[in-house]
Amino acid sequence: MSRPSRVVIDKNALRHNFKHVQTLAPGSKIMAIIKADAYGHGLIRVARTLADAAAFGVACLSEARQLRSASITTPVVLLEGPHKATDLSDILQLQLEIAIHNEFQLGILEQARIAAPLQVWLKIDTGMHRLGFPAQQTLSVLERITHCKNIKQPVRLMTHLAVANEPAHPLTLQQLDTLKQACDGLEVEKTIANSAAIINFPETHDAWVRPGLMLYGVSPLIDKQADELGLKPAMTLESELISIQQLNQGEPVGYGAAWRCPEAMPVGVVAAGYGDGFPRHARSGTPVLVNGVRCALIGHASMDMLTIDLRNQPQAKIGDRVVLWGESLPVEEIARYADTIPYELLCGVHKRLAFIERG
Ligand SMILES: *Cc1c(COP(=O)(O)O)cnc(C)c1O
Repeated sequence: MSRPSRVVIDKNALRHNFKHVQTLAPGSKIMAIIKADAYGHGLIRVARTLADAAAFGVACLSEARQLRSASITTPVVLLEGPHKATDLSDILQLQLEIAIHNEFQLGILEQARIAAPLQVWLKIDTGMHRLGFPAQQTLSVLERITHCKNIKQPVRLMTHLAVANEPAHPLTLQQLDTLKQACDGLEVEKTIANSAAIINFPETHDAWVRPGLMLYGVSPLIDKQADELGLKPAMTLESELISIQQLNQGEPVGYGAAWRCPEAMPVGVVAAGYGDGFPRHARSGTPVLVNGVRCALIGHASMDMLTIDLRNQPQAKIGDRVVLWGESLPVEEIARYADTIPYELLCGVHKRLAFIERG
């Protein structure tokens, strides 16, 4: 028998979320962010489904190479840019666009001998302090870029916001102000907004927006659920009950014997665990849907299995469907129970699972 655990990807949901970004940012081109295997949804699958994107953003060369090998011709932006001088020949051959975020990379480009100039996204650090040239160097760097024959003119500007998911945090307005001062009067295309900014800060939409999480139907905001934001989850992680135990009051369940039945009760065993990407830190009480009804996780997930309290579904039987997140059970909620963020759970689904497409 094949393992019943699987990931269902709803392509209609991906298309719906993409259209929603278009509605929110009607004047902007969309760079769909599909790094980390499209947040676990499948790089090529998502790129083919979101063929209307003006560009795709990826983290590294191997992701870009996979896209080109699948005959995807949409512009692809390497968000971290080249890591070493020898990357440039691959970048040229794969026809990629690149972020340039530090002196090292600019030096590589100035020294290189390449056959054609590259499209560059100059990344400015406006306060996140991860990647980017210091904002006050923007004009001097642009000046050097105009003299660099390996860079196609005009370049585009990019910055990244650190706290766009918290609308009241003062840093976002500071970052926007810093960017404005850095490129005052410049006629260049800019991109600022990730998912949270697309929703919270319309003034950041600019020429391009860079949605990631929201394309997958997941809320980037702590205080708003995806459905309130008009988003539909694209990934459902599901499995089945493979065993049911009728236990007595006080009997322990699972490793460590830490959880004990508060009364005589049915306990279900589900064929999914941390070896599939379900977080081992998820606490007892983490919601799990059995036949669409909320039940609760018992103890910690083990590698291939997890146990659930079936008192809300006493008639459940072996083979019944179990949803661990996705449809009717937001991954955001599971992330809270596991002290993590939905991004990590989505990226962490294991490739041993069967992937099934709908829509
Ligand atoms: C990952 C990433 C995004 C997308 O962020 P979300 O919060 O998933 O929308 C946008 N821009 C850059 C540079 C990124 O690395």
